[in-house]
Amino acid sequence: MAPVSHTFDVLIVGSGLAGLTAALRLAPTHRVAILTKRGMGDGSSGWAQGGIAAVLGEGDSFESHVDDTLVAGAGLSDLDATRFVVERAPDTIHWLRSLGVPFSEEDGQLHLTREGGHSQRRIVHVTDATGAAVQRTLINQVRGTPNITLFENHMLVDLITGDPVTGRKPTRRRAGMDGQRCLGLYALDEVTDEVVTFRAPHTILATGGAGKVYLYTTNPDTATGDGIAAAWRAGCSVANLEFIQFHPTCLYHPDAKSFLITEAVRGEGGRLLLPNGHRFMPEHDPRAELAPRDIVARAIDFEMKKGGFDCVYLDISHQPQAFIQEHFPNIHERCLQLGIDIARQPIPVVPAAHYTCGGVLSDLAGHTDLPGLYAVGETACTGLHGANRLASNSLVECMVFARAAAQAIIDDPTPATATLPAWDVSRVTDADEQVVISHNWDELRRFMWSYVGIVRTNKRLERAAHRIALLQGEIHEFYARFHVTRDLLELRNLVQVAELIVRSALARRESRGLHFSRDYPALLPQALPTILRPETDEPTA
Ligand SMILES: Cc1cc2nc3c(=O)[nH]c(=O)nc-3n(C[C@H](O)[C@H](O)[C@H](O)COP(=O)(O)OP(=O)(O)OC[C@H]3O[C@@H](n4cnc5c(N)ncnc54)[C@H](O)[C@@H]3O)c2cc1C
Repeated sequence: MAPVSHTFDVLIVGSGLAGLTAALRLAPTHRVAILTKRGMGDGSSGWAQGGIAAVLGEGDSFESHVDDTLVAGAGLSDLDATRFVVERAPDTIHWLRSLGVPFSEEDGQLHLTREGGHSQRRIVHVTDATGAAVQRTLINQVRGTPNITLFENHMLVDLITGDPVTGRKPTRRRAGMDGQRCLGLYALDEVTDEVVTFRAPHTILATGGAGKVYLYTTNPDTATGDGIAAAWRAGCSVANLEFIQFHPTCLYHPDAKSFLITEAVRGEGGRLLLPNGHRFMPEHDPRAELAPRDIVARAIDFEMKKGGFDCVYLDISHQPQAFIQEHFPNIHERCLQLGIDIARQPIPVVPAAHYTCGGVLSDLAGHTDLPGLYAVGETACTGLHGANRLASNSLVECMVFARAAAQAIIDDPTPATATLPAWDVSRVTDADEQVVISHNWDELRRFMWSYVGIVRTNKRLERAAHRIALLQGEIHEFYARFHVTRDLLELRNLVQVAELIVRSALARRESRGLHFSRDYPALLPQALPTILRPETDEPTA
């Protein structure tokens, strides 16, 4: 049977808020394919609780939102990118309202909440399930749009680069050399188990973050850094990958994967305790449990490592049952299902990887280094978040840059290009030892947690680098010899992203924002991004 191949005007990889926004903007003029590796709603977007930041309230201003973002970014946020997002944020909210997103209102006006780091009330929300409501609305729109074709259970394997006329493969690793362009991609169809070729003059990566590289994460299973790894393999630069935001309190329970305990529990008087009941936060910061996210996460990490504990406890049981049920109905119910009554018992919690601030280096129109390739959403590094992300700034970033990338594509009439080679399966067989893959997944996530987590040292980072090199050798051999599977592809991507995180962390000789190094506790006077570029003289594999 002839190998399957498709041709579109634009390929969008990922069906989170970034991918869906780009698709809807392009659909009136372009034939668009959305590929997503599981179902349509399986990214982080649907999990977002708090909301979306936008200047909409009386007394608020763009300058104030810009300032708050720059303060959170610890000197590293890009001013142009920050202004770009902040000034377009209100318009994206109006757009979402026009599509029917049922934002919470009070007296006929949008209800705006305030979150840590924001000096004004500017968070638009749909109760405590904003992402799910927005995602649902956009998916309904996309499903009803004829120019958009959905490919669920299609996983990006690799981008195809080459000469746009002849299709000839590039000879050098660094993108943008030899006149090469992104010509399309290979995707694993998980239903047929075949690798399918997609051809298009424009490809948008909207593949989300890489939280799964750590043992504990608030992210869904899809967050394996696939877009970052694929762009790097295609020769693109990446930036600021050492900045991983850790949420201080994720539920610790064998049956509860990635369940976030909102910071509002601490805001309402929740106390952090060691297993022996000792309250430890006052020893770490005068603000105790109300200290900023990164300080609380670091304190928990310190206590867990010092005492060899698997978790600490968050206790809100001094509040009346009715108060808990009114303020935290979801957490109360979820914990009850697992046998924890939070009105009577403390909640076991661990810090968890929450947000990937760095990613594929991209400009204000989502362009990467590789012509024809765009990166938007959490997979990109636009410069907005700098060394630490301000709460509720990521959903808005997804939409603003998705719309900008779509506009750049509309303005670029490059036609479809050369025929592309089909995926070559002539030299591979089925893997006989899946256990190696699952073992390596587990090992990677554990040592990344222990050595490249919240508090770093050169020694730990070097240990991690050494293990990553060993894993890369094994995975490379697997990849060359066996049929690809989702587990293998995700592991390959996670190990690649892990390598880039460690290299970035080793390159930063200071403690700034989310990167804390015991060897370099001071802040350097000049804030510089960490940009990794593939070697110019490195030949392609
Ligand atoms: C628990 C939680 C709460 C949050 N709360 C907020 C909040 O209140 N406000 C805020 O602004 N931000 C919040 N965030 C962050 C925000 O949700 C994300 O940054 C944002 O949703 C990312 O959107 P995205 O479109 O870039 O990626 P995602 O929504 O993660 O979508 C990525 C898509 O890419 C697909 N994909 C990945 N790899 C491949 C591949 N190889 N092939 C094909 N498809 C692939 C995935 O299946 C998925 O469809 C929260 C995050 C979490 C986890």
